[in-house]
Amino acid sequence: MPIYEYICDDCGEHYERIVMNGNTKVTCPKCTSGKHTIQLSVFAAPANGGKSSGGSSSGSSGGGGCCGGSCGCARN
Ligand SMILES: [Zn+2]
Repeated sequence: MPIYEYICDDCGEHYERIVMNGNTKVTCPKCTSGKHTIQLSVFAAPANGGKSSGGSSSGSSGGGGCCGGSCGCARN
């Protein structure tokens, strides 16, 4: 469920709303203005897809060191 971050254009209030659908009416809780800048939160990113976006997996094949720390050689 996507959570949107809003920044009010009128008073600068920063707030978040869970958007059930694209038609959700969002107003500023402080000044009730409907003008705002929308910023997607991290929860809105399609992180659960996984299959289509190859290459950016959680480094199983080496990161910074020889093994990326998975074998425990990095920690001593
Ligand atoms: Zn406001």
